[in-house]
Amino acid sequence: MEDHHLPMEEQTFHFEIDMYLVVRCPSCEKCWGTKGKPKSCPHCGIAVRDDLEILSTTDSATELQQEVAILNMPENLRDQMREKMSKSVEINTEPSTNQIIKCIRIAAENDVIRLDRLSGALRGSGISISAFDVAEEAVSQGLLMRSNDGNYLLLQ
Ligand SMILES: [Zn+2]
Repeated sequence: MEDHHLPMEEQTFHFEIDMYLVVRCPSCEKCWGTKGKPKSCPHCGIAVRDDLEILSTTDSATELQQEVAILNMPENLRDQMREKMSKSVEINTEPSTNQIIKCIRIAAENDVIRLDRLSGALRGSGISISAFDVAEEAVSQGLLMRSNDGNYLLLQ
């Protein structure tokens, strides 16, 4: 019966272009992350085809790194590591405006933002951008104003 056959497309490589894929090498069985079609394995160098095993997909580079790191660990360590990682703060290299504003509000004391406090708020949210850069960006967006003493004033 034709209906019982999987259409060929479903067995081949389909992905959103903006997604990272975590794939496994059919030869050395190591995993790596890729954006777009991989041509060869970065671990053993073997040429790979489109029908690589996809273990997971993500649109976050941070998640991708974690996922690849975990998958390349011995199996008995993986669960332990997953647990550890979910408890630690995720590093956020591309925070949304809302996350930044949240940090600024956390840092504000009577509408005054000191960089050391902002720095702590950012760190607590896993944001790796420096407090100074965040503050200057907020100034350019009309959210903060520089004050004479090196601090910033919350405008909104
Ligand atoms: Zn390989």
